[in-house]
Amino acid sequence: MTMRRATRNWTIFLKQIWLDFSHLDDRVSCCLVDPSVEPIKMQHPPWPEQPPPAKASVSSSARVDVGIVGGGIHGAALARELTLRGISSAIVDVSGFGSGTSQWSTKLLHGGIRYLKTFDFQQIRQGLMERATWMQIAPHRCQWEAFWMPHSRFFTRLAHEAAITFYDSILGRNRPGWVKGELPLGSVDKTRFEADPRSIGSCYRGAIAYADLLTQDRGLTLDLLASSDALRYDFHTVDRWDIRLNGVVGAHLTDRRDGTKRELIAGKWVYALGPWNDATIQQWFGSHPGFDPCQRLRLSAGIHLWLEAVEGCEVPWTIQRRGGRVVFVIPRDGMLHVGTTEREVNEGYAGVVDSEREELYSALEEEMPNIKWRTLNVIKEDSGVRPLVLRPGNTQRLSRRARLEPLAPFANVTLVLGGKLTTARRLMNELATRITGISCGAASETQKLCNSD
Ligand SMILES: Cc1cc2nc3c(=O)[nH]c(=O)nc-3n(C[C@H](O)[C@H](O)[C@H](O)COP(=O)(O)OP(=O)(O)OC[C@H]3O[C@@H](n4cnc5c(N)ncnc54)[C@H](O)[C@@H]3O)c2cc1C
Repeated sequence: MTMRRATRNWTIFLKQIWLDFSHLDDRVSCCLVDPSVEPIKMQHPPWPEQPPPAKASVSSSARVDVGIVGGGIHGAALARELTLRGISSAIVDVSGFGSGTSQWSTKLLHGGIRYLKTFDFQQIRQGLMERATWMQIAPHRCQWEAFWMPHSRFFTRLAHEAAITFYDSILGRNRPGWVKGELPLGSVDKTRFEADPRSIGSCYRGAIAYADLLTQDRGLTLDLLASSDALRYDFHTVDRWDIRLNGVVGAHLTDRRDGTKRELIAGKWVYALGPWNDATIQQWFGSHPGFDPCQRLRLSAGIHLWLEAVEGCEVPWTIQRRGGRVVFVIPRDGMLHVGTTEREVNEGYAGVVDSEREELYSALEEEMPNIKWRTLNVIKEDSGVRPLVLRPGNTQRLSRRARLEPLAPFANVTLVLGGKLTTARRLMNELATRITGISCGAASETQKLCNSD
């Protein structure tokens, strides 16, 4: 009897912690929106990126083992994996390499603390293992940070403590390059917390700090590419494909900079087109017999604003909001990087829209009312589109896992669908082994990347 009661009490206690963690912001909040202050409007970043002058060195025709179309983090990571296996490759991008989603991310190499809510432990574990690998192979692009996750109530604090202990001490114990004592983790000192201007006037009473890695997403992409011997065709459009016996043989390319025509022949092809996958393959093969025009992705746009620095905001904050949304405030490069939002879209490039900017400002004002967010100079803003593998449900709750899929009816084409920066190397290691039948042993996880700067 006593045992039963004790179990029941524990269940109620754990449930309370869980509810607290899940509905952290189901509280009365004060919203200090000043309607007289208009957010600053900015130009969207150009896409496709404006091409620089043409390079004369690219030959008019080439033959390689593997042709890669799409030069984001996935395409670049695959190029490196193939080089590590001694396989020749070429990479084609309609724009500059790393100029798509791989330059508009939150720039974290992480397990994703918010997936604790969706019990996606496998994704978290994989992300945390990859985080350690990136630190080994690209230490020049990685920086450890202690993220503060603020809490407003006792039970929320307990929930965060439990979740963060699991994240940092069990799943994410392996942190190469982490200097013990330099970035304090766990319960944040009260005086430090109260000195942070974001805590003043907010409902938050304290914070628990957890570890994650900051990176430079485009830099990482270019480093992967620099670590490969792939032939490079940036700013090239694919005009048409040569198809023989249900295999894609060659691509006819045009250099967007000067109109030069080029031909690329490859035994196997990988399309790593990020959020442009569905629209592009439909455009290329829509009328080909046997091509399945089904939608494979759901696209979700997210925005970031880069604001002028605010004195006293020295550590990154992660705020879990209702419905699973996370708002980040990350001091970096002398600015405050704030985001993100989720808006379902149907194109690979989505500019920042006023309603989204407004949503982000409102969230910031609601959570950290002491800071006059709208009066801070916007240094730049960006919008990226997440390619999410098609599944029903709210995009915020959809898994960020990737899928490798053959493109029927072509026997030699693989699509890369979905994914994250964090897991790109691992996924492309798997793909390279699959399409070449060759493993590169531990080289992918140990060989340092070249620095492309
Ligand atoms: C707001 C936001 C925040 C994110 N934050 C994180 C994070 O913190 N950590 C993390 O791990 N992940 C994060 N992600 C996810 C991550 O950024 C993406 O999953 C990843 O960058 C996708 O890379 P990719 O190579 O698949 O696509 P992309 O980087 O988009 O590359 C596709 C390439 O294909 C090219 N292309 C398009 N059409 C054609 C064509 N017709 N011919 C030739 N080339 C073409 C494009 O120019 C582009 O370079 C975030 C995503 C978003 C949107």
